[in-house]
Amino acid sequence: MSSLPINPPQRLLMGPGPVNADPRVLRAMSAQLVGQYDPAMTAYMNETMELYRGVFRTTNEATLLIDGTSRAGIEAAMVSLLQPGDRVLVPVFGRFGHLLREIAERSGAEVHVIEREWGTVFTPAELEKAIIETKPKLVAIVHGDTSTTLAQPLDELGAICAKHGALLYADVTASLGGNTFELDAWGIDVATAGLQKCLGGPSGSSPITLSQAAVDVVNSRKSIEAGIRSEGDEVVAHPIRSNYFDLSQILDYWGPKRLNHHTEATTMLYGARECARLLVDEGMDVAVERHRLHGSAMVEGLRSMGLAIFGDQSVRMNNVVGVTIPDGIDGDSARSTLLNDFGIEIGTSFGPLAGKVWRIGTMGYNARRDTVLLTLAALEQVLRRGGVKVTAGSGVGAALDLYESEASDSETAAV
Ligand SMILES: *Cc1c(COP(=O)(O)O)cnc(C)c1O
Repeated sequence: MSSLPINPPQRLLMGPGPVNADPRVLRAMSAQLVGQYDPAMTAYMNETMELYRGVFRTTNEATLLIDGTSRAGIEAAMVSLLQPGDRVLVPVFGRFGHLLREIAERSGAEVHVIEREWGTVFTPAELEKAIIETKPKLVAIVHGDTSTTLAQPLDELGAICAKHGALLYADVTASLGGNTFELDAWGIDVATAGLQKCLGGPSGSSPITLSQAAVDVVNSRKSIEAGIRSEGDEVVAHPIRSNYFDLSQILDYWGPKRLNHHTEATTMLYGARECARLLVDEGMDVAVERHRLHGSAMVEGLRSMGLAIFGDQSVRMNNVVGVTIPDGIDGDSARSTLLNDFGIEIGTSFGPLAGKVWRIGTMGYNARRDTVLLTLAALEQVLRRGGVKVTAGSGVGAALDLYESEASDSETAAV
C-alpha cells in the first residue's frame, strides 16, 4: 500500500500549546545531520548550553537539553534528584501540579501535597508554613500552569527554600520566554521547559538547568554504565533509577568528558538552539513585553465582546487566557466551527474547568497582532451565530484601541 506525503492542514494554533513553530526553527531543523562527536556537533551543544543560560537567566554550567517532551525534563529532574523515601513537597494549583506529584511518587519519594482551588495561587506564607511542617528535601512547583492560566509568583520562594534547607525545582514549560523568569536572582535550583509554548518550536526537547547544589546531589548518585566504565569509576548503592534520564551520566555527556550515553537528538537540538537564539537575539525582556502586549490585547478584545475572564487576573500568565464559555454555547462545537471554518484552534479545559472555560494562547511565534485580531474576528462570528449578543466589531476594535494607546504611551515615554 502506498501512502501520501505528509501535508497537514493550515492551522493557526491559538490554544495553550503547542503553537505554530517559528519558520526559522523549522528551517534549522531541516539541516543535515553530523556525527555525535563531530566537532561541529559538540560546538552546537556548547552553544546551546550558553544560549539557554541566557533564556533561563542563569550562570549554571549545568544547562542542557533532555531529549523528549517537557515531561522528559520533569522526569529527569525528579528521578535524578530523588532517592526512594526522600520527602518532597508539591504545591498544586492546577493540572500540571498533579503531574509533578505523580512523577515524584513514581520516583519513590514520600510526597506531600498542598492544594489551592483552580484559579488561585499560593501566598509565600502558605508555602513556607508547609515547608516548615513537611521539611522536604525538594519543593517541586509549577510556575505557569496553562490549565488555569495562572502563574505562581516564585521570586520569594527560593530564599524560603534555602532558609529551610530544601532544593527548589520549577516547571517553567509554559511560562519561560513569555513571562519574567530569573532563575539565579530567584534562587531556583532546577528548572525544566519545553519548546512548544513561548519558545516557538515543536515539542520534543526539554531544556533544563541545575544549580551546583543540585548537581552535587545528582553526582552523589553517579553510576557509570558497565561497558563504558573506567577503572576508578565508583559504583553507588542507590543509582538513579532511570538510565535514560540519569542526569549524572547525561551531564558527563554534555560536559568535557563526553561520556557516551544516548545519541543526542540532532534535529531537535538544531531546533532548540534556534528557539533560544531567536529569544536571546530579541532580548528576554523584549520577548516578555511582546507576550504581555498581545496577551493584553486578546483579553481586552474578549472582555469587549462581553466574555468573562477566568481566574485571579493579578497573577495571570501573559501568554494564555481562560474565558468563560457563554450560556447557550456548546464549547466543543464552537471550537470545531473555529477550526473548520477559520482554521483556528483554541483550547478546551481539564478537570473542574472542563466544558466551562476555553483557553486562548498568544505565545511564541503566535504572539502577534495579526493573530490576535484574526482570532477575535472569527470568535465574534462563532458567538453571534450561536445566538450570543455581541456588538459587531467590538472585540477587534478593543484590541486595536489597546494597541493604539500603548503605541502612543511608548512614544510619549520615548520623548
Ligand atoms: C504544556 C506543559 C507541559 C507539557 O508537557 P509535554 O511533555 O511537553 O506535553 C508540562 N508542564 C507544563 C506546566 C505545561 O504547561
